[in-house]
This record gives sequence, C-alpha cells and structure tokens, in this order.
Amino acid sequence: MQVLKFGGSSVADATRMSGVLDIVLAAVERDRCVLVSSAISGCTDALIAIGAETDPARRAQQIDALRRRHHAIAQRLFTGTERREMTDELDTLFEELAAAEPEACVTFGELFSTRILARKFACEGIPTQWLDSRKLVRTLGGVVAEGLTYSGIAAAVAAAPGARLFVAPGFIASDGAGRVTTLGRGGSDYSAALYAAALHAASLEIWTDVPGMMTANPKVVPAAVTIPDISYQAALALAENGAKVLYAPTVKPAMEAGIAFSIRNTFDPKHPGTLISGRPDVKEGAWMGVTSRTLPEKGEAVVCLVGEAVSGRASASSRIRAALSEAGIQPLGDVTGEGDTFFIRVRPTVEQAAVGAIHREFFEHRAVTVIPVFIAGYGAVGHELVRLVGLSADRIARRRGRSIRIMGIADSRRFVIDLRGIRPEEAENRLQGGERAEDGAFIDAVLAAAPRGSVFVDCTDDHHLHLRYAELFRGGLGIVTSNRRSLALPYVQYAALKAEARQNGTFFRYDTTVGNALPILESIASDANCSDGIESIEAVVSCTLNYIITGYDGALRDSLATLLRRAQDEGLTESDPRTDLGGKDVLRKLLILAREAGVPLEADDVEITPILGPEFFDCPLEVFYRRLAEYEPQFIAREAELDAAGQRQRFVASLRRDPAARHGYRAEIKMQRVGPESPFYWISGTENVTVVRSEYSAPLVIKGAGEGVRLAATGIIKDILM
Ligand code: ASP
Ligand code: MG
Repeated sequence: MQVLKFGGSSVADATRMSGVLDIVLAAVERDRCVLVSSAISGCTDALIAIGAETDPARRAQQIDALRRRHHAIAQRLFTGTERREMTDELDTLFEELAAAEPEACVTFGELFSTRILARKFACEGIPTQWLDSRKLVRTLGGVVAEGLTYSGIAAAVAAAPGARLFVAPGFIASDGAGRVTTLGRGGSDYSAALYAAALHAASLEIWTDVPGMMTANPKVVPAAVTIPDISYQAALALAENGAKVLYAPTVKPAMEAGIAFSIRNTFDPKHPGTLISGRPDVKEGAWMGVTSRTLPEKGEAVVCLVGEAVSGRASASSRIRAALSEAGIQPLGDVTGEGDTFFIRVRPTVEQAAVGAIHREFFEHRAVTVIPVFIAGYGAVGHELVRLVGLSADRIARRRGRSIRIMGIADSRRFVIDLRGIRPEEAENRLQGGERAEDGAFIDAVLAAAPRGSVFVDCTDDHHLHLRYAELFRGGLGIVTSNRRSLALPYVQYAALKAEARQNGTFFRYDTTVGNALPILESIASDANCSDGIESIEAVVSCTLNYIITGYDGALRDSLATLLRRAQDEGLTESDPRTDLGGKDVLRKLLILAREAGVPLEADDVEITPILGPEFFDCPLEVFYRRLAEYEPQFIAREAELDAAGQRQRFVASLRRDPAARHGYRAEIKMQRVGPESPFYWISGTENVTVVRSEYSAPLVIKGAGEGVRLAATGIIKDILM
C-alpha cells in the first residue's frame, strides 16, 4: 500500500486536480493507494469565516461563492450524467453546510475535494472507495486515539478487497462523543501519516507546492536549497520551530511505524524532494536547516538551527553569534537548545535578517548572493535574456559574487514560477506546461512568491503592465523594464512610479529604453543629478529611420518600400511601421531622455515634423505603401540635392535650453541636414548617436549599436546587476 497526500494548492482547481490525477494514476499502476487530500486552497479559511458569520444573507453569499468554485471544477472535470451527479452530490453537501452548526462548518472542505477526486478516479476506471475519515480517525480528549484509529482504518480497507484506490479526506476526525472535529490547521499531513501507519504502508508521499523541505524558507532566503535527506528528529525540530511545509504531529506516527516519507512538489513531479527517515543518508555533523517563528506575546522571535549528529555545540554557538554580530544583529540572550538543535532569540523586526545571516554562515559556502528574477515577456528579447543568463551566470557569479536566478517567466498566455530556479534550456517547456496567465495571474503569483530582493523584468510591449508596477514596488521588488510604454506616461504617473520605488527602498531601471545597451540614460542622469546643468540633448535614436536612410541608395537596389518592409521583417519597427516614421517611438525616447535630465516634458510639449505628410498616416497600410512609391522620386531628388551640398539627412530628437519655452527647454523631432562636422553624419546601419551638452563639460558623444535583441538582453542584465 502507498499513501499519497495532496495539499490545498495541489487541488486548487481543475487543472491542478488533473496534475494529481497523473501522479496518482502512475502510483496505482504500481500498487494500491490511499489518496488523502486537503480542501481546495483557501476553502478552510472561507469555511471558518462562514462559521463565524452571523448575518444570514452574508453567510448565504459566502456559501454560494464556495459552491461556485466547486461547481466550476466539476464542470471542467466531468461531462454528461457524471457531471449532473457530481453537482447534485456537491449540492447536497452544500445544503448540509448551510444547516451546519458554526463549529462544524470547517469540516466540509475536505468532503468537497475528496468527493470530486473519488468520482474522477472512478470515471477513469479505477476501482475506487471513498473512506469517511470522520468515522475512522478518532480523538479522545483532544489527542488522536491511535489504537482505535488504526484498527478502524485497517478494517475499512480490509472490507474493500476489490478497491485499487482509497480516497480519504484529511484534517477531519471525530471525538469521543462522536462529534466531528479536526486535527488542527494543516492537519491533513497528519491524517496521511495515520493512514500510512495503520496500513503499514510501503511509502508515504506528501505532495505540496514547494520542492520539499528546504534549508530555509525560500521566501526569506532566496539561496535556500532542498534538503535531500533528513532524519525524523531533525525534520520534527524544523517543523516544530517554524517550517510550515510539514505539520509537526505528522512525524510521530510515521517514525513509530518506521515508514520513510517524502515531501514532494506537484509542480515538479520528477523532483525527488525530501526523504525523511530513520537512517538518512547524511554525513555526521551536517547542517539541515534554519527556521524561525515569532512569539508575539513575548515580543520576540526564535531562530532555530538544526543539524544531524552535531559535535561541538560550543563552536557552533559561537559561529551563530558571530554571524549575527556581523549582520549587526544583537541577540536577546544566549544560544540555547540541546543535541542538534540551536535556538537564539532576536527582536521580531530582525527575524528575517537573522535567518538570512545564519543561513549564509552555515549553508552558503560560495559567498554568492542570489538575485531572484521574474521575467514578463518571452518574445525575442525575453528569450535572449534567458539564454544569456544561462551562458553568463557562472562568470557573473565568479566576477561579481552575484548569481541571477530566473524564478518566473511569463508570456502573454502562460506563466511558470519555481523558486529553485528555471533552467534556461527547460524554460520553453516549463512555460508550455505552465499556468494560464490571464487577468494578471502572473503578477499575482509573483507578489505572493517573490523572495526578498527580487527583480521584476518587463520585456513585453504591453500597454497596461505598468499599472501594476506600484504594487510590485510595494511588494519590495525592483523593476527593470525595456518597455518604453511604461515610461512615456503623463509626467505625474511617471513621477509617481519613481517615487513609489524610492519610498519602498527599491529601484526602477530602464536603461535599455533609449539606445538599448548604450549608457545614454545613466550618463544623462549622472550629469543632471550632479551640479552640471544640461544645455542640450540631441539624439538620433530611431533604428527604423536610420536603417532606411543609411541603407538608401536612390532606389538603385532597393526602393523605400522594400527597405521599410525589410526593417519590419527584421523586427526593427513597431507592428505598424508608421509609428516609427511618424516619430511616435522617437517621441517616447525623447520624453524618457528629457525626464532623465530633470525636465518634466509632456508629449504635447514636443513639436514633431514627421518625414511624410498626414495623407500617409490616415490610410490603410497598403494605400500607404502605394503612396510611398509615388513619393519616391521626390525623396531621390532631395537626396541628390543633399549629396551635391555634401550633407546628409538625419531624424533628430532634440531638447535645447530655451528660456521662452515651457519648462525652459524646447523639444523637437524632425529631419535635419547635417554636414561632416556633425557626429550624426557618420552613422552606419542602425547605429544610435546621442550628444549631450552640459554647462561645464565638453559635449559627450555616445555612439554605438542601438539595436538587436542580444544588446537588449545585455542591457537588461546590466540593469539587474547595477
Ligand atoms: N484544510 C486544512 C487547513 O487548511 C488542513 C490542511 O490543509 O492540511 O488547515
Ligand atoms: Mg496544508
């Protein structure tokens, strides 16, 4: 017999339940199974609220919301008669819930989830038997009566010799008076261990949403790693002192029955997770994990470090004290504990910092800080970014002592989050099998999962993503964006985002939005923010226009239209290339440049002279291309005239000090004629050139490749590491 337990997030919706289906069907192939399940995520909290609700209308409303969630799952998992029977069965349970005593409400969640699961497996053709844990798991005076429980479970299983799979609700039980009760919050793990012990199970697997027990809470310590093997005692010490991944009472029944059990991740079923056993495969004196919990009534937090067969408590204690003092943390008293467990008390405000410091001392030998990164956008740039991180991670770690760990990726349809890191070569696959990204689900998940010090990268061209930047800043994340749309907002919104980042002690970096990886913005910012005032900024930063103008040879080889189409094919232009020709994209860049120089420029302040008249813009794209061909002779004539004068034309965005203008600067975007004395004259391909003149220093000319996904990705990495 095997026992498999699934937590609330593993059965949260129909998609997750299908994941459970796969895992359990594979297990049933091997041997008979007991599946123990929690309620779907959030359900127990909702039921507690329902139990406490005194207003009948509100209570009915809350019950209905929960009913709808379960119905939605039934809709997705079943069809025809099965669906009807399932919804009827659920409705009967919901009627019982509506009539239930306040304290009984909490016990319904596991009934809902396991009824659905049991029916689903039966539909799959597995001989399935639902077990009523309310009758089988018995408590007396608040503690589980093991003898009674074990014999009840064994008898129930013996009574169904034909069943291949048993499905049992976790968490719920009944007391000495036969009233339904629970095993305490998180109690489903414990239920599973009781089933395993009663049946002398060959294996017990606890499936959850993290990759096993980890050396620390990965939300607090990004560098935390999975503990592959651990003893019952050490696992118990971690669980009792704050590790939420395992409900502490679970350990005892398994240990007494000598059942090794594992904690595994439903999101990554191939990962072996953590094996908890009597004879773990660990070296003596190895460190297992560090955890903590807050004692609000005492106004302190207790940090707990756990090892296996530790010798020399004194030296470990002094390492703990040294690690804290190095981090500037004053402990509240001495190191206590005994055997392999060490306690140190600190103020709650420094709890996480203390865990981090002790983790660094005992678990991070490479002295490398992990930077957790979440990437929105898996187009050309996102793809290249992931690839480049894979290629350069080791070098960056060696040279800069920091390692970029990609923990989340999203495209417009799907997303994947894994705090252990997503390997670049598997990114594509993981994303394919990821969750649906609709309605901002990725940001929600990032906000819930992101460890301290995380960086959110926006390499989408989404128009709305910036609306959630403030939340990300408030969640403590830094943002790196290459999405110009998120900066070319009305100035107040732009300023509000920057302020939000500052107030939350984090950062907002967007160096790639102008001139890609060229250090344009950082140069302007350092000028403008120091004592030197900016006199003017002139920039030739439209890759599309540069490509066309520098590539044009009077239609000898290619017509304007051919060049433009090629630029579009090479991904240089916006989806309608007229956005570039009309100067809109350059306008965004100019706004970003000006604001970086401290000028609160708005789009309306900029005078744009597009290279083509209005008749080119308010027509369908095909008409546009026809007009472009008609216009071509004029363009050739102009080029010839320029040639004769030894000049060239460039599409220049400029900002010049002008006391008469609003904000004291005049901003323009237009074609300009330039001679060989101008830095704009010599440009090849899509090169970008920016000239910054300031009060005291000589003009600064920044010139270089302004285009290319490789450069964009490099620039983003630079921003991440800055
Ligand atoms: N559903 C219960 C709770 O949320 C039991 C469990 O999930 O383990 O506490
Ligand atoms: Mg749980």
